Amino acid sequence: MKPAPFAYARARSVDEAVALLGEKPDAKVLAGGQSLIATLNMRLSAPALLVDINGIGGCDGIAHKDGRVEIGALTRHVEAERSAVVARFAPLLAKAMPHIGHPAIRNRGTIGGSIAFADPAAELPACLLALGGDIVTRGPTGERTIKADDFFKGLFETALGAQDVLTAIQLPAADKDTRTGFAELTRRHGDYAIVGLAASATADGKGLKDVRLAYFGVGTTPVRARNAETTLAGEVNDKRIDAAVAALDLDPPDDVQATAATKKHLAGALLRRVVRQLMEQQ
Ligand code: FAD
Repeated sequence: MKPAPFAYARARSVDEAVALLGEKPDAKVLAGGQSLIATLNMRLSAPALLVDINGIGGCDGIAHKDGRVEIGALTRHVEAERSAVVARFAPLLAKAMPHIGHPAIRNRGTIGGSIAFADPAAELPACLLALGGDIVTRGPTGERTIKADDFFKGLFETALGAQDVLTAIQLPAADKDTRTGFAELTRRHGDYAIVGLAASATADGKGLKDVRLAYFGVGTTPVRARNAETTLAGEVNDKRIDAAVAALDLDPPDDVQATAATKKHLAGALLRRVVRQLMEQQ
């Protein structure tokens, strides 16, 4: 199928993009186009105007500063995948990146696009949630910094306003006590996950504290398993892991990939794998 007709404008700055987005009620940002163009071609979306942000300056690159890692929205997945800063200071992202689609997708797809699109089965929104990261946006009223916990509102729905441009994400930089784990189950490598889990924690003697477990593919948004997080805090042993699996407070819907019961079962299996990863780094 071909997309419905649309107008196209190329922004040269974030402010110009914000202004252009205000020109039509249903204007949309075009970043890597890896999700948007598919939805246009399938006529799942028919915006009157696409605002191409690929030419704007200052929204790409990866920096480590003051205990934070900042990744510009237009940074391509492949750049994050190959970044030494990400490998050292954002190891959860480094683990997740190779699971996003295929190399061709990662060459064009952007970090900002992935977060803004907010596919509930996508890897990066869950990683951001697991790390307690922030999303930086610019809109008609200026800049906002939104916590990942407050950003994902519903199915493909976020805290972004119609004229907001996502400009960067910020993550706490990993230190020697940071532990991260990532696992997903897919039918083929590179497919969207049936169920996935991104996790972060702080080492605490023989155990863990500040555990954050963010599942994807189990609801309309990435979902934190808060009861299991609380259960896992402390010294980790088989009994505690069994208790955390039993405490998993997920309510996945049936979808085209699996039934709710299968997803729940897989979520428990992934939790065991990921806790093993967290503990192997001790
Ligand atoms: P676009 O497609 O350009 O935009 C996506 C949406 O986000 C649009 O609504 C757009 O308006 C909005 N948007 C983009 N950037 C901004 C911004 N800076 N500010 C405000 N709004 C913005 N993703 C996964 O996570 N896991 C996968 O396994 C996976 N597999 C894929 C397989 C295939 C075959 C394809 C085609 C895609 C796959 N993707 C997967 C999606 C891919 O990661 C996309 O690149 C990503 O979801 C969107 O990034 P983009 O830069 O291409 O955004």
